[in-house]
Amino acid sequence: MAIDLTKMPKLGFGMMRLPCENDVIQIDRVCEMVDAYLEAGLNYFDTAYVYHGGKSETAIREALVKRHNRSDYMIADKLPAWSMKVEADRDKIFNEQLERLGTDYIDFYLLHSLEDGNNYDTYERLDCFNWGIEKKKEGKIKHFGFSYHGTPELLNEVLDKHPEIEFVQIQLNYADWNNPVVQSGKLYEILHERNIPMIIMEPVKGGRLASLEPEFDAILKAANPDKSQASFALRFVASLPGVMTILSGMSSEDQMKDNLNTFTNFEPLNQTEKEAVDKVVQKMTDLDLVECTSCRYCCDGCPSNINIPEIFKALNTIRLYPGDDFRPKNFYQKVTEGAGKASECISCGQCESVCPQHLAIPSLMDEVVQKLES
Ligand code: SF4
Ligand code: SF4
Repeated sequence: MAIDLTKMPKLGFGMMRLPCENDVIQIDRVCEMVDAYLEAGLNYFDTAYVYHGGKSETAIREALVKRHNRSDYMIADKLPAWSMKVEADRDKIFNEQLERLGTDYIDFYLLHSLEDGNNYDTYERLDCFNWGIEKKKEGKIKHFGFSYHGTPELLNEVLDKHPEIEFVQIQLNYADWNNPVVQSGKLYEILHERNIPMIIMEPVKGGRLASLEPEFDAILKAANPDKSQASFALRFVASLPGVMTILSGMSSEDQMKDNLNTFTNFEPLNQTEKEAVDKVVQKMTDLDLVECTSCRYCCDGCPSNINIPEIFKALNTIRLYPGDDFRPKNFYQKVTEGAGKASECISCGQCESVCPQHLAIPSLMDEVVQKLES
């Protein structure tokens, strides 16, 4: 059955950055957020095998599946290439996901983070596309697609080869539209031209576009003082034709409230707001900040236990305010307490191989050592 676009909500609840205390998901708060989201008439929950080290799926079971009718919501989940070695791993992981979620089917199932090289090769080598079609026939998956972090060339190649794909999830936000590495604008054009429904991830760039520096905030405020920074980012994406659902990884009740307000009283960006966004992008490009989205894919496998995304926040602060190293050095000290320092990086390259933003992490660690450990 084709995706019924009329039933798809514009805002999806991304379960990748749930509220935590001491690394434990606060289920009571997640329950409240789930209820508020459903009460607003929205119903799309996005998770993955790896989010919160597997605990995001169980949080969905506790906060959603056990407390609401299965027909009232949709779950999206993903198969991780990097956790599979042989074909039998596909079913092993899928069955584990069903158990963690407490459900017997998944509405939207994706091959996770398809990109040039390792991940795509693994999905082809383990025949995951045909496997997905079989799962659909069995009724275990309702719709089959992939999330994508590769080049426009590969996207075209995969779509030509796999017309069975029903939807694609891409990273898209105003800061990455012309980003030469992410190439969001080009990916968007390809999917739009092919009429393939799009799910958008990172519309707020991992929170970056909701925690802008004061000078950027002033530009947006001058265009519209009543809208939040996140609202600008979400409305930029939601104003594009062909976008089916926009995921926002909400971590607090306040973020949920702000996002619900944006979508229930939706107003596309007007000309003044568009110009303000363009100005912010231009200034950001001039600053040359590290484009980390805090997804944390790099963290688990780091043999030196380096808190890479937090360290990059410190590096960005010192790049922004080169004359003031007091605050970033303090912050750096805090985030390296009980964890590895940049100088302990052994340049193994594990992080770089999984980073969806294709950041040159080991050489950035050298810059951190110079600027924050001296
Ligand atoms: S290259 Fe450095 S930061 Fe990256 S995983 Fe290896 S030790 Fe960790
Ligand atoms: S460095 Fe890359 S993989 Fe690590 S958190 Fe940032 S964006 Fe994600």
